Amino acid sequence: MLRNPTARRPTAPEIGGRAGRDPPLVSTCVTATTESASSTTVAARAVAASKVYGSGEAEVRALDGVDVEFERGRFTAIMGPSGSGKSTLMHCLAGLDRLTSGQVFLGDVDISKLSEKQLTIVRRDRIGFVFQAFNLIPTLSALENITLPESLAGRKPDQAWLDQVIRTVGLQDRLKHRPSELSGGQQQRVAVARALASRPEIIFADEPTGNLDSKSGAHVLEFMRQAVTEFGQTIVMVTHDPSAASVADRVVFLADGRIVDEMASPSADAILDRLKRFGD
Ligand code: ADP
Ligand code: MG
Repeated sequence: MLRNPTARRPTAPEIGGRAGRDPPLVSTCVTATTESASSTTVAARAVAASKVYGSGEAEVRALDGVDVEFERGRFTAIMGPSGSGKSTLMHCLAGLDRLTSGQVFLGDVDISKLSEKQLTIVRRDRIGFVFQAFNLIPTLSALENITLPESLAGRKPDQAWLDQVIRTVGLQDRLKHRPSELSGGQQQRVAVARALASRPEIIFADEPTGNLDSKSGAHVLEFMRQAVTEFGQTIVMVTHDPSAASVADRVVFLADGRIVDEMASPSADAILDRLKRFGD
């Protein structure tokens, strides 16, 4: 069993609820619930989020009034056709890009109002990222990559926690290797371990299994699931793979920059059926 004494423990319904929950519930109407948002239960949220790239003829409305909340201790998948705004939403939620209008809250903090400097600190201290392309530093060992955010912040990693993360991702005997000496699956496990090492409030993952073979992908997903269930980690993941999304507690569907549907406790089959209705 994994133990992380300082992370918020998920409450019983969060852990026990998976198997016992109602069958997938498809709601066609996703309403904004910003008034009811509570900082204790909501890790991040977007309010009337719009993002426009370019202008005039070249204008692209990548996000068109998105209202969405991400509960603490939950694993949410974001899905939708290519170009529907998934990466844009993720980047704006994670403070890597700014909205044209609307707001993004991390807990109680409206990050759309922060200066670049403040935003850099929020990203470093409160947010973890996992990208499709791993984004490891080639000249650093696996261990140095995992502890990089803590090193940059001038903090000493919590050794017990670090050991546990490393054991869980199964990288004990790969710590001195450089990324080029690791397989794709191992590199992505280093990236997930790096995101978890500083115990961020929320982890954003954009197609984390997109470059992996199915076995390595399953291993990475299993670890992310474990981080949510056992460590109470909050994860938001973009994926186009229904079986990857079925590992999540909830799937949010985007089309043309809008949230068009969502599903709780999704099965891969139910997700596939819903995606077919997008007609692509
Ligand atoms: P997804 O991740 O769902 O495939 P994106 O969020 O990457 O979609 O893109 C949404 C839309 O915004 C697309 O039409 C895309 O071409 C456009 N877009 C994304 N980034 C930029 C950019 N930097 N400049 C111009 N258009 C962009
Ligand atoms: Mg994308």
